[in-house]
Amino acid sequence: MNWEFSMPVKIYFGTDKVKELPQIIDSMGLKNGVLVCSKTLKNNGTAEKIIKDCCGRITAVFSDIRPNPTTDNVNSCVAVLRENNAEFAVALGGGSPMDCCKAACAIARGQDEIESYHTGGKKIWAGETIPMIAVATTSGTGSEITNISVLTDMKKGVKTPMNDPLMYPKAAIVDPRLTLSVPPRVTASTGLDVLAHALESFWSILHQPICESCSLHAARLVFVYLYKAYTEPDNLEAREKMAEASIVAGVAFSNPRTTGSHACSFPLTNLYGVPHGEACALTLDYFTRYNAEAENGRLHRFARDCGFEDAYKMADAITELKKKTGMALTLSDIGVKTDEEIEKLTELSMHPLLEKNPIPLGYDDIKQMYHSIK
Ligand code: ZN
Repeated sequence: MNWEFSMPVKIYFGTDKVKELPQIIDSMGLKNGVLVCSKTLKNNGTAEKIIKDCCGRITAVFSDIRPNPTTDNVNSCVAVLRENNAEFAVALGGGSPMDCCKAACAIARGQDEIESYHTGGKKIWAGETIPMIAVATTSGTGSEITNISVLTDMKKGVKTPMNDPLMYPKAAIVDPRLTLSVPPRVTASTGLDVLAHALESFWSILHQPICESCSLHAARLVFVYLYKAYTEPDNLEAREKMAEASIVAGVAFSNPRTTGSHACSFPLTNLYGVPHGEACALTLDYFTRYNAEAENGRLHRFARDCGFEDAYKMADAITELKKKTGMALTLSDIGVKTDEEIEKLTELSMHPLLEKNPIPLGYDDIKQMYHSIK
């Protein structure tokens, strides 16, 4: 068995860790930065408080980012970084500001637009990058410790990840207290994204021992604490455990990547506006059953280590978790009505990530899957 592992992000984990941001900036020898966050965090005073606490180290804010960020969002962010001669950026929020900031930092010192790199095949060059510090406010995407940025190019109509070894954040601050205000639906969706990262990276053909240990640890935490965090938003222990699950699942999929559920999530989000985690969860129980017997049933052993009889019972538990948290269970729940729509979804799900599934997933397999969850 051959494998590689790399995780160059320094992680600062713990309640109230965000207060150490100014010292972390100083320890990296940086002085002049831009804060990149969602409009909500700009409007509710969170961004303002962080800027104040940073005492002049952050000189501008960029918040023009939609959920599932576009390449246009990245180019606007790059413009702000260039105008301010930013030495670094702090990304505050969930996956969208993280992914936007990550791509912007990768080309901040260059001249070009992000499209040249996202789908144009241009290589990121170290001399054009600036460091990014990620401050996570949701427990889900794991984007704060990966080198992956998922961007939508509206002109080309493509949503696809870009990644490069130079795109890792330099540091990630995970402060569970920042997740206390996350509303239940978002808690459920982002928490199921964590589970998708844990499971898909486990069964990915690129699986390897360090990441699969992380998959197991993260999945166990989600099965115990997600519903608690959903029903008791102020439960700091549940929030802390979900934040831990998120970051550990981020390590889990950083190298083996994800497979079927993430591949299918892209068109479900693009065409029907389903939030990322909920879109992944829609097919996660199906793919758990589909992959149950792969590689001598290693998923059964994983399920038993999570406290289930086998992988099929674990799949049932995922379905149950979705039901209890009000997530979509069928395509009709999200507004898919006709067989033509299923045809289109199938076409758009043919993503290279499918090739990482341990049992081949071709066009007919995906179409059959969609018909089974009509
Ligand atoms: Zn995800």
